[in-house]
Amino acid sequence: MRGNPIIKNPLTLTCIECGKKSEFRSIQHKCPECGGFLWFECKLEKFKDKFSKIKINNNFWDYNFTFPSIKKDFIISLGEGGTPCRASKSFSEKLNIKNLFFKDETKNPTNSFKDRAAALLVSHARSWDFNKIVCASNGNQGASIAAYSSLERIECLNIIPNEIDLGKKAQIIAYDSDLKTIGNTVDDAIDYVIDNNELNDYYQCTPELNPLTLEAQKTIAYEIINQIELPNWIIIPMGSGELLVSLWKGFNELKEIEIIKDIPKLIGVQSQSSSPIINDFFNNHKHKKESPKNIKSMALGILVQKPLYKNLAIKCIKDSKGTVIAIPENFIFPSIEQLIRDEGIFAEPSSALTLAAIQLLEQKQTFESKDSVVCLITGSGLKAPYILEAISSQTKTTGKGSIIITKLKILSQISLSSIKGITGTDIKETMGTISLAAIYQHLKELEIKGLISRKKEGKNVLYFITNSGKRVLDALDVLITLL
Ligand SMILES: [Zn+2]
Repeated sequence: MRGNPIIKNPLTLTCIECGKKSEFRSIQHKCPECGGFLWFECKLEKFKDKFSKIKINNNFWDYNFTFPSIKKDFIISLGEGGTPCRASKSFSEKLNIKNLFFKDETKNPTNSFKDRAAALLVSHARSWDFNKIVCASNGNQGASIAAYSSLERIECLNIIPNEIDLGKKAQIIAYDSDLKTIGNTVDDAIDYVIDNNELNDYYQCTPELNPLTLEAQKTIAYEIINQIELPNWIIIPMGSGELLVSLWKGFNELKEIEIIKDIPKLIGVQSQSSSPIINDFFNNHKHKKESPKNIKSMALGILVQKPLYKNLAIKCIKDSKGTVIAIPENFIFPSIEQLIRDEGIFAEPSSALTLAAIQLLEQKQTFESKDSVVCLITGSGLKAPYILEAISSQTKTTGKGSIIITKLKILSQISLSSIKGITGTDIKETMGTISLAAIYQHLKELEIKGLISRKKEGKNVLYFITNSGKRVLDALDVLITLL
């Protein structure tokens, strides 16, 4: 086995904190002088001209001129990027937001946005003549890296935590990667990669530890600007926070060369079960009561306890005049179903958080009706077996189980509209094939049990969740975390 290859074309990176530029012959993410994050600065002089020549929906490598130089011969591609930014079919009207879009990254080759980073990182590894690659991740990045390295027969080692979505693990194995399971969350897997000297001759593909990840992911911002008018808001799921930082960087580069006048306001979303970035955003240290080892969430793709990009992500959100929102666990599954049935998008739980976020923020009157909002759908729900099991179990039988599921769905819908209230007809729209009469029967029974209340407003009867109803949903939250 060979050792470190001799690097002829070093990577020039700049420290975000002290501004020092240095040349590197191995992948580094921290400034050797001050410990600040390193990132790549692309040459902006000829950028404007080249950017304006790119046609809508062209692919990821059209933006090669913004990456560190990678010659054509080294490029590894499976057709990543160029994903659709689709106008909402249904929620735009329901939420009274004129321009609502879904940037659908499930359309990438391994069904997540991580294919962008995998394409660039594995191509870069190849241009540096590495024949071994290591990646610690929650699964999506691991699956992508495994796919791209298997194309070139590059040896791939994936480090994953115990709890990852089975579909992602299966992809890693299917693409013939070596696999090591370390710890309960991705934090343990990342620490292992940082501390293990035996991995020094591997090319580093852990997204948080390779600054080129930001370069690959910022192309999502470029594509959005090439696909639609400059949006007012972008809603982004946050794990380590590096995806949000990537988009901020992409939009800022476009602002610097005057392709856009201002950057969109960035909204960072996490699950309430694990929201370390949001807690710090509000300086809310009281919420750190959970024992780190016991945190459970459906949104496994963004389950990170010590997000490496936390401080930078908070800076980016504040700089963009954006905000953050933590989503209760019991909102996730109804949002997944709504995305499937109303928008045709089969998203993973962390992506569905963006739809729940838009509904909750709309109730707080965060948006104006003329605003344009983009929800970033990062990965596919087909990778998460409990989503598949839950949906498969919803056969159209009328056993007690399905009656309870229907009642809980109705209760969740009412909870989502807890400030403004919701009509029976609006509930029906989110419930698929069930009749309006059946909905009203369920509403009547929920009201008798004291879980909901109603109020007449003009011709409409609006339903609201009561404190007892909230307690039932909270209890369900606890049950979900036991699964
Ligand atoms: Zn520095």
